[in-house]
Formats: sequence, C-alpha cells, structure tokens
Amino acid sequence: MSDSQKYIYAINANDRIDYVNEAFEQFARENDAGELTDGAVIGRSLWSFITPNGVEEYYRVLLNNVRETGESLTIPYQCDSPSLRRSMRMRISSESGEIVQFTSWLEKSESREPIFALSSKTNKSERLIHMCSWCKKVGMPGKHWETLETALEDNPDLVHEPYPRFSHGICSNCLAHQEKSLKKVKE
Ligand SMILES: [Zn+2]
Repeated sequence: MSDSQKYIYAINANDRIDYVNEAFEQFARENDAGELTDGAVIGRSLWSFITPNGVEEYYRVLLNNVRETGESLTIPYQCDSPSLRRSMRMRISSESGEIVQFTSWLEKSESREPIFALSSKTNKSERLIHMCSWCKKVGMPGKHWETLETALEDNPDLVHEPYPRFSHGICSNCLAHQEKSLKKVKE
C-alpha cells in the first residue's frame, strides 16, 4: 500500500453513502472491518456510522459548511490501531452542494507496543473513558486531554483485562482547530 493511497467515500443529498473506492474497502479488510466491504455500506446513512452526542453534531457542522460554501475542508485526525499510530487527513469536498466526497490519506504511521484496550477482541469492564474521535487523546478525570500512552502509564489498572470502554467525543483542542478552519458562509 503506498502512502499516497486515497481512501474515498461519497454521500448523496440524503447523506446516504453512494460510493466507496477499492482502497477504502481494502483498508477496511486490513483493519478487522470486513463488514464494511463488498459494497455493504452502499445505501446506508452516514449517520449510522457516527457516534451520536458530540461527534455527530460536529460532523453536521462540517458538512453544512462544505455544502453551503462549496469550499473543501481538510481535517487532521488519528486512525490508530492497537499497534499502529496513524496520522491521517480527511478532505471533505462538494462540487454540487449535494454530493459530498470524503477523501482520506495517510500522512505518517508509527508502530507502538500494542494497546490491548483498543482491541475489540478483549474483555471490557463497564468503566467508560472519553476519547476524542479526531486526535484519539483521552480525557481522564481531573486531567487535561492526554495521549492514551500517557494515560496508560499513569493508570496501571487500564493495562490489564477487563479493559475500559471508550466513549467518543471531541476534545477542546480539536474543536477549536476545526472551528477555525470553517469557511465563512457566503452572503
Ligand atoms: Zn482531539
């Protein structure tokens, strides 16, 4: 897989996915998301893949901005697996104001000691930890947002089963960054 590979999907005016490219399906296959391949996502609502509360709300802001201004937005995000940190970017663009295309690409990847808490195949407790959907930092009680690696170092109880679950939202840094990148809606 080359680093310049682009993972693309597009939604129609009703926010239903009507296109994914081969690279997207290949990426899903390689990342234990086989249920997203072979056209399985076509016709499904974008919103069925996005966590409500925080993330959904902010995705709607981004989408409206792109549809109304016709200008694309490029958002950095992390798409980490247990043993890989992946810095990615996503360009959200719309030529027609209806169809919106999401194009993601890898900027940088680094391997790390596997973080088993991130694996879907391990035992989970009822404990919930907030994670930013974009940068993957976690909000530990009484602390600023910090990397998962740092949080694990400081909380030895998080590195063995049962592992905590993660609830997804957006951290204050990512929120500020994204608000700044929104384009002014034309009069
Ligand atoms: Zn964040």
